[in-house]
This record gives sequence, structure tokens and C-alpha cells, in this order.
Amino acid sequence: MLTLVEIERYLDELEEKYSHIVKLQSIGKSSGGRNIKAVLITDNDISESDKEVAIVMGLRHGDEIGVVPAVIKVLDWLVSDDGKITRERQKVIVIPVVNPDGFIKQEFGAPREVISKDEEEIIVPFILAQEADMVLDVHSLDRGDIEAIITGHTLHEGEDDFIHGFAAAKMLAGAADHGYPYVLHMLGIQSRTPWHSTPRMAGYESSTYNNWVCAPVYEKMHTLVLGMEVNSYSLNEEECGKSGLAAIRPLIKLGNIRSPWECTAGYPNRIIKGNMHISLRATGSNAEEYRKSRIELWQKREYFTEPVRLLPTLTQIKAKTKFSGEKLSSPFALCCRLHGNPEIKQVTLNRKVCDYRASSDNCSTFVFVDVQSAKTGVYEITIDI
Ligand SMILES: [Zn+2]
Repeated sequence: MLTLVEIERYLDELEEKYSHIVKLQSIGKSSGGRNIKAVLITDNDISESDKEVAIVMGLRHGDEIGVVPAVIKVLDWLVSDDGKITRERQKVIVIPVVNPDGFIKQEFGAPREVISKDEEEIIVPFILAQEADMVLDVHSLDRGDIEAIITGHTLHEGEDDFIHGFAAAKMLAGAADHGYPYVLHMLGIQSRTPWHSTPRMAGYESSTYNNWVCAPVYEKMHTLVLGMEVNSYSLNEEECGKSGLAAIRPLIKLGNIRSPWECTAGYPNRIIKGNMHISLRATGSNAEEYRKSRIELWQKREYFTEPVRLLPTLTQIKAKTKFSGEKLSSPFALCCRLHGNPEIKQVTLNRKVCDYRASSDNCSTFVFVDVQSAKTGVYEITIDI
């Protein structure tokens, strides 16, 4: 396994070799005085406002050695020809060693019930400043032969259970395609059941699970958040790398494409309230505007009533929400899903004919109406088909 010095040498060489797309920075010093390094990978010829922001964290727990080859494989992929589209559509930030103090001592090196001081003071503020659209927390087990994708850092709001499950399913399928049978571990739902078949070793009595950086990031920004475990007991270093990349690559690729219920490409984190049928959503004309809208709406979601949808006739759909907060600086969208692909005759917002956007999946059409600079009031859309 690489030492911290060797990892840092690898990162320096990566920056030197791919200086047009790789930038290395220190995001702060650990409690032990070591630099915590982040690797930014993106196509610098394309405006950042058009890009999604993804963050992959490794080694929050210092002795989880399978994480090292996994994050290095991800970095190698991101600078490769196959990573080109991702570099064009996203800024991907990899923090290979979140916990250098624990790593150098080969200790877990973090509290099990809460986030660590370094995470609270350096890592979480960095992720919040980046306004990340997606965060992945990569871990590794040192027992048994289980590998896992972890969801459940979220509330049961909007379609977040479904959407995080959808993202996890992409990871599971990608890993399976390469011969790695991951399980889905839903914190708080399955609780810790999958681990019971692989008892902890002596000295590891606590079975409390710790992936907690995801929670504050989701709570503040409605970021798509997932965790995962590779397995360094049953898989050698090379296999940990392959297995990690096989699961991580499809998640990162989600940020390049349009999910079936969205009207533009990007990580599917824009349904703030409601469901697939009728929803309150973030909106904008580029990735940056979507991000601003998403974060503002999420933080002010309590000022919106649950959007409701009525069907006065079979050719008319009405949807509305009431907003009771201070004037918003970002727009929001109301979105209705219609059966099939009907001809849309007219769409109104508060009885005035308005523009709309529409996108289709294989069985339905999503109609989006943007509301700019909303003040206190009721917002009702009518769709005539
Ligand atoms: Zn861990």
C-alpha cells in the first residue's frame, strides 16, 4: 500500500503531467499539522457556471486501506480519455486523504458518533463553499467479503428516497458489470443488519456506523449524498481499486446526463418538495443557477406549502403552491407529469399565458413552469391539453 508521502508524490506527478486539467490545493491543515489535499479535475476551457460540482472523499477513517487504490483509480480515470465528457460537464474534486493523521498512524482516527473536529472545521466548510451537487464518502472494510453502497443520510422529503436509491442502483449495476457484488445498505432502514454476519474483530466492539459528513451537507444544500465500502480483507489492492472505480464511475456519470424526470443534464437533486406527479423544483439556465436555486429553495422549503395538483377536467391540469417567505433571489419551478406525450395547447401561471419547458421519458411528459422572484402569494399553473 502507498504511504502518505507516496500518495502525495503521485498527486504532484498527476498535476505536473496533466497541468491543463488537474489542480492540486491544500484545503487546510489537520489537527496534527498535515496538509489536507484536494485534487480539482476539470476542462478549464469551459465555464464553471456550466458545470456540476462533484466531491469524492477518501480515508475519513485512517486505517481503511482499500480506499487508497479506489480513489487513485478514480483519479486515473478522470484524467483519461474516457473521463473527457466528465471533465467538460463537471468540476470533480477528489480529497484522497481526508484524515492524514489517522492514515499515517494507521488508526481509525475519528469519533464514531459525530464528525471529527477537522471535518467540522475544514471538510464540511470546504464542501459547503463549493456548493457541491454530489458528495461521495468512500470507506473500506477490513473483514468479511461484503462491499456496500450506502444511502440513508437523507430525509424522506421530495423523492429523495427514490432518487438516492436510483443513484445507488446505478452504482450497484456498474459494479456488478465488472464482477463485484455490492449490497445496498440503507442507514436507519435496514439499520446495521448486513454487518451482523461479519462480527467485528476484538477491539472494535462498537458497531455504530459513521458516514456523517454526508448528513450536514445534505441538510444545508440538498446535495446528492452517498457512501460506500470497498473491502480490503477479501480483495487485494488491485481488486479494491477496480471494484471501487466500477461502483463510483456510474455515479459520477449521472452528473453528465439527464435523468428521466429532469429537463436538463446534471445530478438529480432538484426536486425540493412533492413527488414525481407534482413537484416544486430548482430551476435555472445553467448548472450554477440550478445550484443557487436548489440551495435557496431547500433552505426555505418550509415557506412553501406542499404542492397540490387537481384535474378539473380530463384536458386540464392545475397545480399550485403557496409561498409565505421573503422575496426569493432565485426562481423556482412547478412541475407536472402528464401521461404519455399529449399536445399542450396552453400553459398559464396565475391565469396569464406563460412559457414552459417540457421533457419526456418513455411513458410521460414533464411540464416545467418557472416562477421568477417569488414573493408571498399563491402560484398556480394551468395546463390545457
Ligand atoms: Zn469508515
